[in-house]
Amino acid sequence: MTTIFEKIIAGEIPCDKVFENERILAFNDIAPQAPVHVLIIPKKPIENIAAASPEDQAVLGEILLIAKEIAKKHNLESFRLITNTGRQSGQEVFHLHFHLLGGRRLGSLG
Ligand code: AMP
Repeated sequence: MTTIFEKIIAGEIPCDKVFENERILAFNDIAPQAPVHVLIIPKKPIENIAAASPEDQAVLGEILLIAKEIAKKHNLESFRLITNTGRQSGQEVFHLHFHLLGGRRLGSLG
């Protein structure tokens, strides 16, 4: 099933873009949970990290490095990078995405 993130990648739905290259797109979350709340996604439709395969290794690593650069741009010394995986974890959009959160004290996980 086509997710909203695939529509954003295709340009059918607008987003507040932060970064883009051939493989990856990053944009501000529409309902931010922190002063900085960026979603970083591969353009390839991977459901979540549980559905990733060895051929996705390079793009997964690249996402982490892009997250670091975005955090640096926002002068974040502390930040959190999370990827919900499955409904029980709170995943609502089944296109792999990493939440980059920062700019306030973040509570404990769970
Ligand atoms: P998750 O619950 O981990 O699947 O996270 C999905 C995230 O996507 C939520 O934080 C939503 O606020 C965010 N989201 C949903 N639709 C959009 C959109 N059109 N633009 C930006 N962020 C969105």
